[in-house]
Order: sequence, then structure tokens, then C-alpha cells
Amino acid sequence: MKLSAQALDKIKRQLNEEEKRVSLNLESLKKQDPFSDPDRLIDNAASDAEANEETSHDRVEAIEKQLQFQLEDIQKALGRIKDGKYGICQNCGNMIEEDRLAAKPTALYCMDCEKRLER
Ligand SMILES: [Zn+2]
Repeated sequence: MKLSAQALDKIKRQLNEEEKRVSLNLESLKKQDPFSDPDRLIDNAASDAEANEETSHDRVEAIEKQLQFQLEDIQKALGRIKDGKYGICQNCGNMIEEDRLAAKPTALYCMDCEKRLER
């Protein structure tokens, strides 16, 4: 079984949109990071504020990392489409179910392997 060109095209568009969305999120997140705020040097006299900034910096950084991973997954999936290797389970080499790819275009494993690997 192979993905139809039509299905692949749809997934590609989905991935492109997702890539755009995640990059935008990442950008706006970077602006929210208090550590990259140019006004920070002026208004960080209070140590309480400093502590708050630490926490929110950590939080922003955690989300940022997550988005970065997402972006990498998306770009890798797009790369696999380009190489004609998209939709092949990285564990058993079988085709990943089409409806699974539609729901999760960055999926690396077929349903069976995913279940097995989760354990
Ligand atoms: Zn598999």
C-alpha cells in the first residue's frame, strides 16, 4: 500500500501550515521572554520582579524547546516527503496507516510499532 499523490499533497500542505504556525508561535514567544526584553535593565530593581522573571523565563524556555522540537519534526517530515520516504514506519518499514498520518502528519511509526514502543 502506498499513499496516493493526492493524500501526500494534502499532508504536505498540512505540514507547511503547521510549520508556519509553529514558527510564528516561536517568534512571538521569544518576544515574550523577559530576558530578551530591552527594558529589562531599567525596571528590574525589585528582587521580587527578578524572581518572577526567572520563573517566566524558565517557562517560556520550556515551551520554546517544545516548539523547537515540533518544528524539527515537521521539517523532518517535509524532508521525508521530498526524499519519497514519507509514511514509512521507521521501525518495521511498513506503510503507516493513512488516517493516522492525516491525524498526525509527523508520525514516525505505524500504529502497531507505536503501541509496542510505548510500553
Ligand atoms: Zn511499524
